Amino acid sequence: MKKRVFCFLFAIILSFLYSYPTNLAYAQFTNIVNPYEAITYSKMLEYINNLEKNFDDLVDVEVIGKSLDQRDIILVKVGKGDTLIHINGSMHARERITTNIILKNIEDYCNAYVNYSSISGYNVRDILDKVTIYYVPMVNPDGVDYTILGKESIRDPYLKATIDSIYRSPQAGWNHSSNNWKANIGGVDLNRQWDSDWDKNLKYDPGKPANAFYKGSTPLSEPEAKAIYQLTIDNPFVIHVAYHTQGKIFYWCKNQKGNLLNQSINISKKITALTGFNPVPSLNYNSYFESYAGYTDWTVDELKKPGFTMEFASNPYTEKDFDSIYKPAKALGLLFAQEAYNLRFSYNTDVYVDNKLTQVFENEEDARAFIAKYTNQDSAIKIVKNGNILYSNEPFSHENILTISNDFVSHMYNYNYQNNNDEWKELLSQYIPETGLYVNHELVSVDDLINKREKEKVVVTASFSSDSNSISKDLNNIYTIKGKIDYTYSSKNNKEENLSKSIILSIYIDEQSNPYILSIVEEDI
Ligand SMILES: [Zn+2]
Repeated sequence: MKKRVFCFLFAIILSFLYSYPTNLAYAQFTNIVNPYEAITYSKMLEYINNLEKNFDDLVDVEVIGKSLDQRDIILVKVGKGDTLIHINGSMHARERITTNIILKNIEDYCNAYVNYSSISGYNVRDILDKVTIYYVPMVNPDGVDYTILGKESIRDPYLKATIDSIYRSPQAGWNHSSNNWKANIGGVDLNRQWDSDWDKNLKYDPGKPANAFYKGSTPLSEPEAKAIYQLTIDNPFVIHVAYHTQGKIFYWCKNQKGNLLNQSINISKKITALTGFNPVPSLNYNSYFESYAGYTDWTVDELKKPGFTMEFASNPYTEKDFDSIYKPAKALGLLFAQEAYNLRFSYNTDVYVDNKLTQVFENEEDARAFIAKYTNQDSAIKIVKNGNILYSNEPFSHENILTISNDFVSHMYNYNYQNNNDEWKELLSQYIPETGLYVNHELVSVDDLINKREKEKVVVTASFSSDSNSISKDLNNIYTIKGKIDYTYSSKNNKEENLSKSIILSIYIDEQSNPYILSIVEEDI
């Protein structure tokens, strides 16, 4: 008896020890990121590389695009969960300390994860097992390097010339200091590039490339904005966040209504409790907030999810002030991650594009608005809510259309008098709309076809052929296929004949992927 108790205890101790292998493996904190100095693009790459090496099961790195001056724009995914949020930094060059914040966040969260520790009461391991944070630490690498290294950092001579011309006719108020540069290296403000009231007259916009405030010739004209746009469109982020440094406040409001408004207000209260920053506008604001063409203006407006633009510091400050700037920022990523996880069941209407989950919405209406505006008909698109398919658009390959045409033709033209009419009717009814189809420009019903067949009791076997160039598709999901039918025609007196006809079929694919033949035009060859 005693021995058994001992074995039992021993087993418990063993299982306890072995359930914490990662804890034993790391059991100490790394010190990779030095946030007290300006972080250039190449320094950032070095830090990210080290973070990925040290925390390879927690950190994934991808390139999501290239800047104007051909620097890779880097995405760092932190966490293991399937609830996703996005946080970006250094969209504005001179606010580059947001890169320091993000890199330090990544290191702190990874250390807390492997050491089973908490940050401001957030259980980091629990959160990062449920949620993955998609960080883009430096949206504007050319601009950041320009603020640190000056003109020498610009590689493309054409871009150097752009800077020279901005120098020659500077915007009022610019002190000619590269340190004060806000835009991308082409002189476009990346937080004025977003298609949400972009065509309004934006405050301070100089109407031409400048150190700050120029919105560009069109929304998303700049590659850095395009890269963030594509990342945002392609991933089901529940919360979008942009890190900036213009006063210790945050923006949360862009015309939200209903649940989205309540969610935004609830999260805002928690942000204020954690950071001490006030929301702009105040939370009881109830008219249209004039905030134009910013990243989170667009995400809130178009993707119908909470979005926040955080402003972490007041001027003047330098990297030496990092500790005080970081204090409110340290746990903020965890706050957003936890809130996104809490909201994940509210966003249960999933949009799949080419079988990848790309967006989540609160309802079908929002999901349909998204696919109408942001997807194209050549992709396979599905809206799924609680396992039910609400909408499906299969991009039909030429092969699919050919198969449908073949099946239809073999049923339609098979006038075998031995066949049962009811069976035949059922087969055809699958393909023919209830209102009938046009045969040589005349509308006929399935019953009309049956009557016709009764009169022509002959044996026909038919097959369809077409080359893939003869298939086209219009915007209403209607395919037109031109081809040829080859008949073997056998009359009652057993006289066989081989005949051919050219044929044009119009095929409509409905939202459940069912094909319907709308019309047939035949021509004797
Ligand atoms: Zn900013």
